[in-house]
Amino acid sequence: LGLAMVKDFDFPSLAYVGGQWHKASKTFAVKSPYSGELVAEVADCGEAEAKMAADAAVAAFKEWKKLTGFERGRILRKWNDLLIAHQEELGRLTALEMGKPITEAKGEVLYAASFVEWCAEEAPRVTGELIHSRFPNKRQMAVYEPVGPVYAITPWNFPTSMITRKAAPALAAGCTIIVKPAEQTPLCALYLAKLWEEAGGPAGTLQVLPASDPVPVSKVLMEDMRIRKITFTGSTPVGKILYRQGADTLKRVSLELGGNAPFIIFEDADIEKAVQFTLLSKYRNTGQTCVTTNRIYVHRKLEADYASALAEAVSKLKVGDPLDPSTNVGPLVEQQGLDKVVSHVEDAVAKGAKVVTGGKALGGLLYAPTVLTGIQPGMRILEEETFGPVAPLMPFEDEEQAIAWANNTDYGLAAYIWTKDLSRAFRVAEALEYGIVGVNDPVPSAMGSNLPFGGYKNSGLGREGGHWGMEEFLETKLISFLLP
Ligand code: ADP
Repeated sequence: LGLAMVKDFDFPSLAYVGGQWHKASKTFAVKSPYSGELVAEVADCGEAEAKMAADAAVAAFKEWKKLTGFERGRILRKWNDLLIAHQEELGRLTALEMGKPITEAKGEVLYAASFVEWCAEEAPRVTGELIHSRFPNKRQMAVYEPVGPVYAITPWNFPTSMITRKAAPALAAGCTIIVKPAEQTPLCALYLAKLWEEAGGPAGTLQVLPASDPVPVSKVLMEDMRIRKITFTGSTPVGKILYRQGADTLKRVSLELGGNAPFIIFEDADIEKAVQFTLLSKYRNTGQTCVTTNRIYVHRKLEADYASALAEAVSKLKVGDPLDPSTNVGPLVEQQGLDKVVSHVEDAVAKGAKVVTGGKALGGLLYAPTVLTGIQPGMRILEEETFGPVAPLMPFEDEEQAIAWANNTDYGLAAYIWTKDLSRAFRVAEALEYGIVGVNDPVPSAMGSNLPFGGYKNSGLGREGGHWGMEEFLETKLISFLLP
């Protein structure tokens, strides 16, 4: 497997192509965002590997789709069990390669496994429908079939679960899948492939092509007519490139893109709970999730109390080594991410915002968890996804204004509201143009393998999770019998 060793355990660093551990002609370095240390040199795939993988995915698809859902489900079940058995290793790899605090990273492994478990159980239930025909001499049915070989591109912020959220339904449905993980996090992806191999996953069903440059691999697979679907989680600009590229071969497209999540605290909300939930929704994964709260709208009457209570709680968060179980907030994943956070805070402060706590870089890629007040329209922090541990607070006057501000964005992934008033909860949840709304719930999609996850507007196309996620990998075929 081209094993690399980090602090007493082995993991693969070669690409996984057609059931073989493949040494590419080049390698690239994966470094810890916390310590800057080299974690591994990993196979760097390009056009050649993409072509090999496409052929293998097409060949494997012919057999894999013929297995029964029960048989595919059994392999997925083993994969799930292995993921859980290797929670510690996958958690440590996550902390090492992308800096997620280990306690959260281990939690992510269970989240990742939950998709595999759900899809293992669902695989035998993918059937079809008998249709009551308009013609007495016809018998008609709709049959669901796997869409074909799939290409998946995944991000670094959830290096195991963004893969299983795509691979598990694809494999359960009878598709084969080629994964190009983010260049920052190839190791978790390769570890998943190793466990798939151990579970008895046939050659070519799941392949992993790490690459320092996504473009050569993507070009080959996006142009290949035999690859029938692209599924992507990442930024909106890249999602739009893939949507355009997919047009030439008319691939099915699923896109999970950026967000700009509002967090609205109404005047009847419980401040203590709102603070506790802000910590979860804002500072988890160092603010680097697509459903992370980006803007906090708090009713004018609560603003002062909420700001001081939040600042006090935030100042107690422990920032530092992701491998230390007591760490709450780790480093940003890379310099570019840190630069964006710094520039958003500088822009806000230059336009009149006040730093209540934090507001400074702490060396390396660490940034102090921050609370800002005095936020005004026109500040970048309100309009762009910050993807870091900074909470900007803006007071509002009434419900109508809060809804208008919340919807005033091209994004529409997740939104959060805090109120004890049931009528208001429904009214606002329905008015928000978002794919996910948490009502007094800071983590609406937690362990959401059975829930629909996806966005409106520039936040994406399609849904992952539950039967919605399976349907993304299925074609519908009409079979009509005319009786003699
Ligand atoms: P982020 O800013 O979070 O890194 P990206 O959208 O740039 O988000 O990256 C998400 C994934 O998309 C990664 O796997 C990355 O390698 C891949 N990616 C980036 N640019 C392209 C591209 N032009 N074509 C295909 N994949 C890309």
